[in-house]
Amino acid sequence: MQNLIINEIFYSIQGESLNTGIPTVFVRLTGCPLRCGYCDTSYAFNEGLKMTFNDILDKIKIYDCANVTVTGGEPLSQKKCFSFLDTLNEFSYKVSLETSNAVSIENINKNIAIILDIKTPGSGESSKNIIENYQYLKKSDQIKFVICNLADYEWTRKYIAQYNLHKICNILLSPSFGEMDIKVLAENILKDKLPVRLQTQLHKIIWGDERGR
Ligand code: SF4
Repeated sequence: MQNLIINEIFYSIQGESLNTGIPTVFVRLTGCPLRCGYCDTSYAFNEGLKMTFNDILDKIKIYDCANVTVTGGEPLSQKKCFSFLDTLNEFSYKVSLETSNAVSIENINKNIAIILDIKTPGSGESSKNIIENYQYLKKSDQIKFVICNLADYEWTRKYIAQYNLHKICNILLSPSFGEMDIKVLAENILKDKLPVRLQTQLHKIIWGDERGR
């Protein structure tokens, strides 16, 4: 029987990505090999309970919602996550995966929408970025950068051009909560005509740091 260590499963409004605002079931997996300075889900590093795929599917089904986001932690740090994504796809859920670019995305089911969080220097974990991952992204995937300061912004601007990321899929820039002024970020994006979409964390505007939201 296949199983995963699950930190939490909850129903909320998608606060980030191109699906912002859409009711979604979140499946948060335990564990992460990174330690980003701004991490707001450190409770997912170790806390969790072993659940079978069937148990997880039963819990998801309660919410009667077609949209499922698999997140962490770093969900791909559990190898069984790859077959769990296949299972969700077989059950016809509309699935997105939030992943940190520290694990290969080569073998992820092509029907899953990947949100690849490329780590900026401000996170303290940019050395973990896997450059090879970019060749596996689809047009329907999304790249996200969390911007901590103006140095991060400059690094991101050059990084997008270096790897032609804007030609692969949508790029989202998100200000690090409490660190980067969103207005300053917006003005820089406009000044440079950067081919990106500015986003904020809608769930934090609604619920603050409340857990399970
Ligand atoms: S990758 Fe995500 S969960 Fe892991 S430390 Fe960074 S922000 Fe936290």
